[in-house]
Amino acid sequence: MMTAQQPIAATTQSTRFPEVDRDQTYELLINGAWTPSLSGETFRCFDPYDDLEWGHVPVAGAEDVARAVDAARHAFTTWSVTPALTRSSILNRWAQLIMENLETLARLQVHENGKTITEMRGATGSVANSAEYFGHLSLGAVGSTLEPFMPGHEAWTLRQPIGVIAAIAPWNNPLGLLGWKLFPALAAGNTIVIKPSEITPVSTLFLARLGVEAGIPAGVVNIVTGPGTTGAALVKHPGIDKIAFTGSTATGGAIAEIAARRFLRTTLELGGKGAQIVFADADLDAASSSLVTGIVAGTGQACNAGSRLLVQRAVYNEVIDAVRTKIGQVRIGDPLDPASIIGPLASRPQFEKVTGYLDLARDEGCELIAGGRAGRDVPGIETGRFVEPTLYATPDERSRIRREEIFGPVGAVIPFDDEDDAIAIANETEYGLVAGLWTKDVSRAHRASRRLESGVVWINTWRAFSTNVPFGGMKHSGLGRELGPDALNEYTETKSIWLGVG
Ligand code: NAD
Repeated sequence: MMTAQQPIAATTQSTRFPEVDRDQTYELLINGAWTPSLSGETFRCFDPYDDLEWGHVPVAGAEDVARAVDAARHAFTTWSVTPALTRSSILNRWAQLIMENLETLARLQVHENGKTITEMRGATGSVANSAEYFGHLSLGAVGSTLEPFMPGHEAWTLRQPIGVIAAIAPWNNPLGLLGWKLFPALAAGNTIVIKPSEITPVSTLFLARLGVEAGIPAGVVNIVTGPGTTGAALVKHPGIDKIAFTGSTATGGAIAEIAARRFLRTTLELGGKGAQIVFADADLDAASSSLVTGIVAGTGQACNAGSRLLVQRAVYNEVIDAVRTKIGQVRIGDPLDPASIIGPLASRPQFEKVTGYLDLARDEGCELIAGGRAGRDVPGIETGRFVEPTLYATPDERSRIRREEIFGPVGAVIPFDDEDDAIAIANETEYGLVAGLWTKDVSRAHRASRRLESGVVWINTWRAFSTNVPFGGMKHSGLGRELGPDALNEYTETKSIWLGVG
């Protein structure tokens, strides 16, 4: 098995990614050993920019999943009682290795999901942050001593690790979102079986290699690659104690049903349809830039996309003109080029889904404000699955463009009259992940942020993230919170202990 320092051997070199051998066969990580799947079956990755296949990745079946869960169960007996300081030191070493290999990790993700190199570099740095932060946080994690109302007794609480965590990740920020689960889980003393997205398995395997090099003991971290059926086998395995999932609301709902029958703990980070609300008194230049960021960041393939643009009628034309101009300056191109803001959509199904919404917008009679071209119709783009940043006016509240998560660079523009109107429109979807307010009126900012049905509210900013600030959704956007001090508690059980003292 190669070490992290010998990144990826090249025999059948890729022109764009010379560090990658297109014919390389990857392996599962089970009980500290790299191993093929029992069936020997593999699948291939695609580079969404040039549409070429690369890598052979194992399809883990139910028996591979069982081996991984057994290994994690076994490792739990020692990892759960390993001193927090030791666990934290290993996570710190892992963080350091992530930073040393940041470029490889970022480029691998670009090769897998076509997101821009700038975005993937930032996201990879945040993985190292998570490892460090949760390692440090676990050092101070203790229960509490309580004075019971019952005379003759003392009581205290312990926060104990839950057991084996099943972590299932999406493709749109494969390592960043995995880090939000992996590191609090390990820091709190749990072991883990990871199922990365079938679109982005190799970057996760490489991250795990760094973990092994950092000193993660055998069985503490296991990786099973494969499609949704591999994830389903993991979710159904009786040996897991908690499911931490990021992905679509549909898959999250199916997982929640299975988990509910077994009373499994869950953290679910699901879809979104974020509203950015621009009031007439806002800094309109900053707000219009943010509206553009909200739809183009991550090529719109972001749960935190600000894909509903709510603009107060008094400044509607002015703001939409500014947005149209700024959208025209967004550079579409090779995701490896640091100047590119928009890359290709991550997969053929994703491209088809997004272009299907462009067709739907025409069928719905939505007025096109900007963009609207896709594939070979995008000027200057000879290759790949690109969609221009696109805006539609969607005054009709029944419009599906306005209500459904498109997960591409497509925004729905909606005018509003006053604060009540804005809040009602912002709260009209089933989602409740992120929302934004642009206003100079501090009282309104406070009032409106309380009334928005959203797990995160950004005021006069957008897409601000920090490892120590919680993130998560209301309504159909999820259950539980990731990041922040409370995230460690999502990976522990509280036990109350009583002592009769006479
Ligand atoms: P997805 O639901 O299709 O897949 C997510 C993961 O679940 C993949 O690893 C997939 O293989 C696995 N999976 C599929 N079917 C399964 C099953 N029946 N049982 C267990 N696992 C199964 O989602 P996706 O397309 O990979 O990701 C995009 C979605 O993720 C979007 O809806 C986006 O909003 C959401 N997302 C949410 C957040 C958040 O923090 N709330 C962050 C990023 C992405």
